[in-house]
Formats: sequence, C-alpha cells, structure tokens
Amino acid sequence: MDSPAVRLLAWYASKRRVFSWREDRSPYKVAVSEIMLQQTRISTVIPRYDAFMKRFPSWQDLASASPEEVAKLWEGLGYYSRARNLQKAAQIIVHEKEGKMPQKASEISKLPGFGPYTSAAIASLCFGEKTPSIDGNVLRVCARYQGHSLSYDDTRLRKEADLFLRSLMEEGDPGLLNEATMELGETICLPSGMPNCDACPFALDCKAHQEGNETAIPLPKKKAKVQTEKYTVLVFSYQGEIALEKRPDKGLLSGLYAFPMKEGHLQKEQLRSALSDFEVVDILPLGESRFHFTHRTWDMVAYQIQLKKKTDLYRFYSCEEIRNELALPTAHRFAFDSVVRRG
Ligand code: SF4
Repeated sequence: MDSPAVRLLAWYASKRRVFSWREDRSPYKVAVSEIMLQQTRISTVIPRYDAFMKRFPSWQDLASASPEEVAKLWEGLGYYSRARNLQKAAQIIVHEKEGKMPQKASEISKLPGFGPYTSAAIASLCFGEKTPSIDGNVLRVCARYQGHSLSYDDTRLRKEADLFLRSLMEEGDPGLLNEATMELGETICLPSGMPNCDACPFALDCKAHQEGNETAIPLPKKKAKVQTEKYTVLVFSYQGEIALEKRPDKGLLSGLYAFPMKEGHLQKEQLRSALSDFEVVDILPLGESRFHFTHRTWDMVAYQIQLKKKTDLYRFYSCEEIRNELALPTAHRFAFDSVVRRG
C-alpha cells in the first residue's frame, strides 16, 4: 500500500477543485486569496477575488489605492479589518521589502493580518517551506485519521496534527500537502453528517473510520456566548441624498461608512423627541433585521428620517455614490434597500 502522503497527493491531483488563485502561485495572488478565504465561503470569494485582482493586480497597485476603494472591492466579504490590514501589508512590502513578500512563515506572520495559518499556507505554497497550515478542516482530518478524541480547541490536537503533517511533508511537496489536506476536510471529511469515507484516500488506515467513530471526532468546542445588542438605525434623507457617518477606528465595522445608530429599539415618538435638534419632516419605518457577527448579534429596527434641511453632523451621499463608491456594511444593507425601494 502506498504511504498516506502518496495517496493524498494522488487523490488531490485527480479531484482538486479549480479556482483562479490555484492556477498561479505568485505570493501576491496566494496572499489575497488566503486572506479573503478566512471566515468567508469559497462561493462568496470567487467573484470578488477576480474583481479585486482586476483592479489591484500587484502589491504596488494595492498599496497606492485609496482605502475607500479597497473597502468597496471588499464589499460582501465582511470583516473589513482584513482589507485594511492587507493594504497595510502591501505598503510594508512595497516600501520596506522592495516589493517582495518574505519567504519564511515566521517573517510573513509579522505582516498585519497574517496569522500562523495564513503565513504557513503562503510559505509552503509559494516557497516550499515544510510548515503545516492548520485550520479547523485540517484539524478534523488529522484528528480522525489519528483517532484522537480531543476537542477542536485542545492544544494537544494541534500538536499531533502538526507532527502528522510534518511526517507527510517528508514525502512530498509541502504546499500541495497542506492544500490537499484542506481540500479533503472541505469536500470529503465533512464537519457535520457522515463523512464520505468511501472516496477518501485515508480510508484504509484512518483510525476513526476503522472504529466507526467518524462523527464523534473531534469533540466540539465550548460555545462562546453570543451577546445580542439592540439598535435603532437612522437613515437621514434630504432631497434624495442619504447621510452616512464614518465609524470609529476601533470596534465592529471600524472605519466604514454606515448609518448612525442609537442604542435600543426606539418608537417613532421617542425618536421624534431624541431628534428635536433636527428639522424633521417625517419619520418612516424601514423594517427590521438581525446581523450576526462572531460573538455578537445586532438586532436592528430602522427608520427613514426625512429632513427639511441638511444637518452638518453628517455627510450626505446620493444612492449612486453609496452603491458604486462606498462599502456600506452588509449589516445596514436592509435599511438602504428599503429606502431605495421607497424611492
Ligand atoms: S476515512 Fe473518513 S473519517 Fe477518516 S479521514 Fe477519511 S473521510 Fe475522514
């Protein structure tokens, strides 16, 4: 029987999915795709990756772009701090590293936004470093193959996975082995339901499969508490223009242009008195929505506040400008769509 590494690479050679970022191993393309794929589904990334690459084909193009344009091209991917960090990394690479990505994972991880997983993926894929990149998918495959009944957040599981992957890397291309293990976790050794062991190159010696333990390994993480916060979203409008404010540089949706909000769910009459300093013509409900961040949920109601006169507190934009030039956070999209529908 061939070794696990040989079987894994043979499986990957015939079953790998084709994505544009896999066709060219330039560090820039791999870095952008890896950052986009953090916490975002592949189907969401595909069209946005291509558009991003078209507009910013190199570190230089990204480094010199306006932050607003970068955010606009990031729209729909969420977690905008990734875009800001990626641009900062581009500026460091262009201005301090002669336009070249560092080659070692330990050096790559000093760039803003490049964690251990991403740094190892780039170092192995682009520069052949023997360093495992371990995310939840890879952890699951390794835990099942080795038969470890530990939870995802147990550091021993990560150490065992690291040792196992390093042993595979003695026999094949480190980047391909990292990528193949991820692919196996994403397409065959699935997190919920029964994995497709019949199609798995590890089935012959996978401990969990031999013992019928596939779905019990690894043990789930303890769930972090999700906090729910209530907000009233204010869409100030004046003659077809809408007010946005730049959110603070720290915290959720930091640095993005979004609608002003007030804490709590305010009724129309409460709003009217809270906005007594504004020249309000009418207050119209725009619906409600919930948006889930990693450990927080925003429970929102929205109102359109029609003004007799613009306020100096906010900048006003046309709907076209908001649609084409600014990255309105997905959390507030429902209120914008509702105003646009109203006309
Ligand atoms: S044999 Fe089954 S449980 Fe084991 S690694 Fe493959 S898909 Fe996962």
